[in-house]
Amino acid sequence: MKLAEKIPLLYHRFLDDLIGITVPEEEIARCSSCGLCQHPKSPYQETKCCNYQPFQANFLVGAILSDSSDQMKTGKRLTEELIQQRKGLTAFGLIPDRKYQQNQHQILTLPKSFHNQEEIISQRCSFLHEGHCSIWAYREHLCITYFCSSVGASTGQQFWSELNEMMKHIEYQLAQHFAQKLGITWPENFTEAFYEDHFELSDIEHWGPWHGKEDAFFKECFTLLQELDQKNFQEICFGKSESSLEELKQLALNFEQAAFPKFLRLDENIRFENANPGNIKLCLNSREATVPALILPFLRKFDGTQTTSDLFQLAYTVLYDLNAHVEELLEKKMLLNCYAPDQ
Ligand code: SF4
Ligand code: SF4
Repeated sequence: MKLAEKIPLLYHRFLDDLIGITVPEEEIARCSSCGLCQHPKSPYQETKCCNYQPFQANFLVGAILSDSSDQMKTGKRLTEELIQQRKGLTAFGLIPDRKYQQNQHQILTLPKSFHNQEEIISQRCSFLHEGHCSIWAYREHLCITYFCSSVGASTGQQFWSELNEMMKHIEYQLAQHFAQKLGITWPENFTEAFYEDHFELSDIEHWGPWHGKEDAFFKECFTLLQELDQKNFQEICFGKSESSLEELKQLALNFEQAAFPKFLRLDENIRFENANPGNIKLCLNSREATVPALILPFLRKFDGTQTTSDLFQLAYTVLYDLNAHVEELLEKKMLLNCYAPDQ
């Protein structure tokens, strides 16, 4: 797929090189029949992976408020409500408020790897409406680049993570530029660390002349974006330095090469041995790999008759993502591409 399918339209005229990059189709992350929800008791049934509150930069908020289409009606209403309630309302844009962040911190530091439904729902995104994103056309960096499981395994995730950093950087630079242009004093310590260390910063309200007129401020930020040409955009976002486009292009090539073959089969010469409790050791010549016993029935189904991504969906019924194991077994040549000529 071309990145043009992933990057929101409002960036296209600035990023023509970027949107032309091709990456493998992410066939495992089938969002319309989400893997996280395949188990009837999954705590993610109501949220899928939208148990995340975005950092909606000022010009993205403005874009929502300025959009009079029917598709944006709900997103606009929810955005207006957040502004009225002053929830996470900053000159940067709409961000997770302090209460949300504290709750998130508490949940993430709980000594367990699975969270219950109550914990997941408490982190539900404010823009999620009846199972759908109400602001899709103007979603932020992580919502653009997140795939729970990539067909390129760790190489695919590396690509998305790099793109995420680039989009985050663009959003931050533009938001800062527009706010300053509109007379907002940007706090000195308000750097990109904001995303990682936003506890102290989330309450900052430097509204100056825009106090009480925040919706007008956001719309004005979007107008400023519309007035930018490609040269201004480059200067604001990347200054004189090169963007990381070349690096991204290389990562996209790596991603293409690392993509899981469509049909895989488990080598028939593999021996299975019981390992430490709950695990099975797969042995082939001098190679070994240990996997949870729970996933062995799914691995045995890799016989070339079902697609790789269909078998991932099957494992999701027990809430298991096969990604790391398939990557390891491919590397160790225990899983083989059914259509590779010389294996
Ligand atoms: S990215 Fe994954 S978890 Fe999120 S909606 Fe898509 S399939 Fe579900
Ligand atoms: S903005 Fe949309 S995609 Fe992002 S977390 Fe919220 S509902 Fe999900």
